[in-house]
Amino acid sequence: DVRVRFAPSPTGPLHMGGVRTALYNYLFAKHNNGTFIIRIEDTDQTRFVPGAQEYIMDSLKWCGIIPDEGPGIGGNYGPYVQSERQELYKPYAIGLVDNDKAYYAFDTPEELEAVREQAKLMGMPNWQYNSVTRTNLKNSLTLPADEVKRRLDAGEPFVIRFKMPRNHDVRFEDIVRGWVVVNTNNLDDKVLFKSDGMPTYHLANIVDDHLMKISHVIRGEEWLPSAPMHVLLYQAFGWDAPLFAHLPLLLRPDGNGKLSKRDGDRLGFPVFPANWIAADGEKYSGYRENGYFPGSFINMLAFLGWNPGTTQEIFSMDELIQAFSLERVGKAGAKFDPEKTKWFQQQYLKNTSEKELAQLLKNEFNLTDSEERLEAFCKLMKERATFVKDMMSEGSYLINKPTSYDEQTVSKKWKEDSAALMTEWKNTLEALPTFDPITIETAFKAFLEVKSLGIGAVLPLFRLLITGAGTGPSMFEIASYLGKEECITRMNDGLA
Ligand code: GLU
Repeated sequence: DVRVRFAPSPTGPLHMGGVRTALYNYLFAKHNNGTFIIRIEDTDQTRFVPGAQEYIMDSLKWCGIIPDEGPGIGGNYGPYVQSERQELYKPYAIGLVDNDKAYYAFDTPEELEAVREQAKLMGMPNWQYNSVTRTNLKNSLTLPADEVKRRLDAGEPFVIRFKMPRNHDVRFEDIVRGWVVVNTNNLDDKVLFKSDGMPTYHLANIVDDHLMKISHVIRGEEWLPSAPMHVLLYQAFGWDAPLFAHLPLLLRPDGNGKLSKRDGDRLGFPVFPANWIAADGEKYSGYRENGYFPGSFINMLAFLGWNPGTTQEIFSMDELIQAFSLERVGKAGAKFDPEKTKWFQQQYLKNTSEKELAQLLKNEFNLTDSEERLEAFCKLMKERATFVKDMMSEGSYLINKPTSYDEQTVSKKWKEDSAALMTEWKNTLEALPTFDPITIETAFKAFLEVKSLGIGAVLPLFRLLITGAGTGPSMFEIASYLGKEECITRMNDGLA
């Protein structure tokens, strides 16, 4: 059975890279009729940020990434928040000590800091607590057994560290990266259980993945360095390890490094799913509040690291589920492309029905116009918009009379005889029996014919008087939308 999890730590708002990890887990689960689980990894209490868990759940919901098991949802393997599972981890850590796979260490933070400083002075800035250095430190491998017992009985603070074997090659096959081989001499004796009574990420992550029967661990590349240690932990417990897939990094548009919040601010582009204001007042800009549709956001994200192997670019969530496979996830970092991101949104707006757009417009701007009227409005404006709000700003002349006139059109097109010409055209309009686009267009063509004028000599003037703008959608549609009376009033105002 395919069982995968997205395991965020609630340390702040979820970056779009995190959403992509959640999305790939979700797509992989659904493609394989499997189960998608959310687990909140909050064992590091120093980094806990209130509200972050709610932000994560809410953002994923907006994206349409719906977990089968998780906090607030339930499931047979709960609770799904690690701090609520706190009691569970310690016996596993002690079990490893009993099997000589881990050990107690009593070194205080001050002592370790002093050792580190000393090493730095001797030209070793990357000091590690490992198979070599542990022999000179205070732990249950170096202290006599009764001394260890005395310290534990006295309630002295301790941590439990993993006993990293010396000079051993750890091998595992990553679905994205292929075979990974790491020698343990480069790895340290990671803390598994902390003096505050909490497991570290490493211990809790492995214990929970095991207890929750996780089949595939799909996560960001930044966790690749931890994977060998995780593989060893599974072996130490005598458990089968899940399969691993480490996803490529999301890079800046220029390919220079990881995409960060600062890049987003610099580009004027959101890199978070939804807005967030941190406790210190710092603002995080989100796709949701910037007017993106969840579908276009997800579609864009899916392509950052994966491709379907065809030319199709627009995918609904169901189509993504159909098409997705980890085999088609690339190793190379995926460059974030702001222009392409906008393009996806444009396509989605274009493909949204006028009925739906009208509803969105109505909600966003508290409009009271009839549905029919709003749909006609959207039909006119959607081709020129990327976001729903663009229809409103671009099409403001469909609601209000123009207050200014495009200067370029005035200077280039408005001639001495233009007022007379427009008065004549206005009179023609006024005499029309009906005011639908075809009738207006037919009359317009006849008018050009009689005047022996080209379209470029007349249409811009008409547009200027009606909308104040230099360009826009079909003038016949616009005129019909506004109605005869409004058009005549606007032309009179402009000609006055
Ligand atoms: N809690 C880790 C994170 O915040 C999870 C890493 C993993 O998936 O193993 O990304």
